[in-house]
Amino acid sequence: MDGHAATQRLVDQFLSMVRISSPSRQEGDFAAYLRNELEALGFAVEFDGAGEQAGGDTGNLIATLDGGDGSEPLMFCCHMDTVTPCANVQPRVADGIIRSDGTTILGGDDKAGIAAIVEGVRRIRERGVAHGLLQLVFTICEEVGMHGAKGLDYGRIRARRVFVLDAEGPLGQIALQGPSKDAIRAVIHGRTAHAGLHPERGVSAIQVAARAIERMQLLRIDAETTANIGSIRGGIATNIVAEQVEVTAEARSLSNAKLDAQDAHMKACFEQAADEFGARVDVDIKRSYAAFKLGENDPVVRQCLDAMRHLGLQTTLVSTGGGSDCNIFNARGLTAVDLAIGMTAVHTCQESIRIADLETAARLVETLIERNRTSVSE
Ligand code: ZN
Ligand code: CA
Repeated sequence: MDGHAATQRLVDQFLSMVRISSPSRQEGDFAAYLRNELEALGFAVEFDGAGEQAGGDTGNLIATLDGGDGSEPLMFCCHMDTVTPCANVQPRVADGIIRSDGTTILGGDDKAGIAAIVEGVRRIRERGVAHGLLQLVFTICEEVGMHGAKGLDYGRIRARRVFVLDAEGPLGQIALQGPSKDAIRAVIHGRTAHAGLHPERGVSAIQVAARAIERMQLLRIDAETTANIGSIRGGIATNIVAEQVEVTAEARSLSNAKLDAQDAHMKACFEQAADEFGARVDVDIKRSYAAFKLGENDPVVRQCLDAMRHLGLQTTLVSTGGGSDCNIFNARGLTAVDLAIGMTAVHTCQESIRIADLETAARLVETLIERNRTSVSE
């Protein structure tokens, strides 16, 4: 098959994929499609029980194929779910760019990665390239809190080196560190009273929230740390002193220690303000995911740099501001990087991807597998 035909096959497959709706917890149809594709390529495909835990219609797809050349096992990973609106995606191709018709997302996040992996592997098989153990893990529910990666049956994962293809940015960009993130929820309990008749009997939960937030360090804290108040809900009417306010917030940091300090600061602001007004506050802080940080000399990173240079790509090492399955895998003892695949404006109806980037992503997968034996050993 010549290069042009292979690119067309990749594009056609990507278009088929985006037409199959797969919102979080409803990845089942898409998973069944992938199972067929991968079994046709010789993979043994299984599903784990993460779907039941997450309340979805399928588990994570784990596909395994041992080429038998004894080289280091590799895992490639993307998530199957997309954000909404994703029903009835009508992809349009114009000027080498793939978009939706503007009424839905495209779903290139993360189906561009999946299409690139399937095509990359297909080329390896077609060309008869020797390879070792390959595992493809396509997760569920990444967009709603990485429940797939969190619930993955790690007993079935035999690879230790993981390439996640789920980052925005130009091909050649490698995210080798990512922040930890905490979800913070504060419920302030004041005391209600008639605002006109007996305001002195009341404790306004809204005033408590205002004072606490006014004293808080928020948004950009330092180069590694951010924090944000996301929502405030409370109060009923102007003639009632507000009894309860709920504040939701988040904090992120590349350093787990700095994140702990930011959490403590925000909690203290709430507690101090509550004290001053005679209110009570419950602050609940949950770690959504932990930070990860790989070095330039980590074998996974070196392997990426080697493949990218081989393809003539400009390489950049970055830290990501968001969380992905990558955070979870690293926390579970795998070594995972997140590779940019050119998708732009993800999570919007203007989302797009260039065919040239899709093609380069497929070649990157192909090259990573093909050069696996030689790239890190010297
Ligand atoms: Zn994604
Ligand atoms: Ca996403």
